[in-house]
Amino acid sequence: MTPGVLGARPVVARTREELRDALAATPRPRGFVPTMGALHAGHVSLLRRARDESASVVMSVFVNPTQFEDRADLDAYPRDLAADLAVARDAGADVAFVPSVETVYPAGASTTVDPGPIARVLEGAARPGHFAGVATVVAILLGIVAPDVSYFGEKDAQQLVIVRRIVRDLALPGSVAGCRTVREPDGLAMSSRNARLGPDDRSAAAVLHRALLAARDAHAAGTTDADALRAVMRDVVAAEPRAALDYVSAADPTTLEEARGPQAGPILLSLAAVLGGVRLIDAETVSLT
Ligand code: AMP
Repeated sequence: MTPGVLGARPVVARTREELRDALAATPRPRGFVPTMGALHAGHVSLLRRARDESASVVMSVFVNPTQFEDRADLDAYPRDLAADLAVARDAGADVAFVPSVETVYPAGASTTVDPGPIARVLEGAARPGHFAGVATVVAILLGIVAPDVSYFGEKDAQQLVIVRRIVRDLALPGSVAGCRTVREPDGLAMSSRNARLGPDDRSAAAVLHRALLAARDAHAAGTTDADALRAVMRDVVAAEPRAALDYVSAADPTTLEEARGPQAGPILLSLAAVLGGVRLIDAETVSLT
């Protein structure tokens, strides 16, 4: 364990044993915020909520290789542990679990978690294997950390649905809290990927949020037909020539099945587009109540 200067927080645990010792010294309830580092205000909002709702806050910083289909994407992922620890300290994290790949996946590890069909639509269709990688690492981390509540962002809407599903199906420890998306002033959802956008693509990227807002407004004005809502989003993105649309979706928020026709219940609106080679996603849930 690396306690830093005179017990400074967060305590950094790099192995399972160090984490066990650190956890033994922290009170429950225990909030857990899994991250891949490159922390920004979105991560901070999760950490702050965990701080408000828990007696101790554990975060993890682990760039999980099994959820990257593309080796270059994995290698390009930003890593700056010193900066992340400073952010984590300011947000009130008590313990930072920073494992190596071998600590998470010990030699001989061969078990993977397949969440089923919900992992193969939307982002899963574009990124085969991605959600099996996410589900497997989340199952391992929840097993190691044993939180009372773990915190995930609504921006990654499909990931949140899948995490809720595997926690229920596999009886993994703790409950799952979904946290509101933190946005830039122009509406772009904060993401470590945004730094890879050139200036023109960066301004154009606000189109994803504009598409969601247009669909949300149409829904509030009485358009509950799922096909019409998808068309609203598609039209907004089509008006931005720098954005190549991958998909728009209006789906059941629990099953992720694409909705057809008028909807009385809540609808998960989501979309993905590529700008300047950077794939961006965004999502919002709308409901009549
Ligand atoms: P990541 O480090 O990208 O794996 O993200 C770690 C957690 O932070 C995930 O639960 C994300 O959904 C969440 N997160 C990422 N960006 C945002 C954001 N802009 N607002 C809220 N949560 C976010």
